[in-house]
Amino acid sequence: MTLSKIWVYVEATDGKVSSTALEILTKTRELADTVEAIYSGADGDAIAATLGAHGATTVHTTGDLGSALPGVPVAAAIAEAASAGAPDAILFATSYAGRDIAGRLSVKLDKSVLTNGVDLALDGDSLAVVEPVFGGATNVTTTFVGEGPHLVLIRPKSFVAEEGGGGPAAVNTITVPDTGAAGGAKVIERHVEERQGPQLEDAAVVVSGGRGLGEAEKYQMIEDLAKLLHAAPGASRAIVDAGWVPYSYQVGQTGKVVKPTVYIAAGISGATQHMVGMKGSKNIIAINKDAEAPIFSISDLGIVGDVHKVIPALIEALKARG
Ligand SMILES: Cc1cc2nc3c(=O)[nH]c(=O)nc-3n(C[C@H](O)[C@H](O)[C@H](O)COP(=O)(O)OP(=O)(O)OC[C@H]3O[C@@H](n4cnc5c(N)ncnc54)[C@H](O)[C@@H]3O)c2cc1C
Repeated sequence: MTLSKIWVYVEATDGKVSSTALEILTKTRELADTVEAIYSGADGDAIAATLGAHGATTVHTTGDLGSALPGVPVAAAIAEAASAGAPDAILFATSYAGRDIAGRLSVKLDKSVLTNGVDLALDGDSLAVVEPVFGGATNVTTTFVGEGPHLVLIRPKSFVAEEGGGGPAAVNTITVPDTGAAGGAKVIERHVEERQGPQLEDAAVVVSGGRGLGEAEKYQMIEDLAKLLHAAPGASRAIVDAGWVPYSYQVGQTGKVVKPTVYIAAGISGATQHMVGMKGSKNIIAINKDAEAPIFSISDLGIVGDVHKVIPALIEALKARG
């Protein structure tokens, strides 16, 4: 038994569909007979092939919204389209736009939103959403009851994106109703943070540092090790809050979710809020001077030692290998 139709709100930058949108589309193929995408941007045609390959048969697009902040106009457009399109559920990534639109849509449609989803399943003919609680210590499964469309926010890296072999999605324009002054908020500037090397979310290897590094200058060791391993450097919230590295480095509940092949945690205790962002990594290596540190409970390889000795030794060994 599958649902008849699910919509997935997708975001794209410079013609590249966000990885979370592709992950959600992939999972949705298992849940519904028809998967359709919703997009707000001028280049719906350019992304139709990627969306189709990941399972969307149609992309409903608002077209170019100019500099408008998407929340208000997109929620209004989806609310109107949903009454005709009748999706059983509308899924969003846990992104700024996704949260904004889902919240507004909840009010417009008078439907509740389940947030922080990490898995989706069918419970009879209803959609069930799994979400972690107590900082990721346990999961709760909630099944929607009643009429859709049910609204769900899904965390990045909850699923693996895979193409399903579909042809390009058909592009259908949906109208954006006049939202008056409510839709007046504009994006006046975008700041793209320059980052060299692999991106944290996509890297096969991540090397993260925590408060155990002792001082901001010692984060350079993490950068050096990451460079040698072609890895992305990451961080615990403790050192982001301390201003040692930017927020974009943060891994965890309120940072990024990563699932690399190898995750190295150096001087990180393993608070549940950190672990929820990296425990899906294939191989976890922890370096901590405290043998009782919680991070060792989820590590495949634990090194009980001082980061100031272990990391320089690792760097030296890697350099010696050339
Ligand atoms: C709502 C909420 C959301 C949060 N979100 C996040 C999040 O997204 N990401 C996140 O990371 N945290 C998050 N936190 C914070 C989290 O609870 C922890 O405070 C934080 O992860 C601790 O960072 P840490 O492990 O670097 O520091 P600490 O907990 O202080 O651990 C430092 C570790 O380094 C070890 N150490 C010390 N010196 C050395 C040495 N010389 N060599 C080796 N090891 C050494 C110590 O034994 C210790 O285990 C959140 C908290 C809350 C309440």
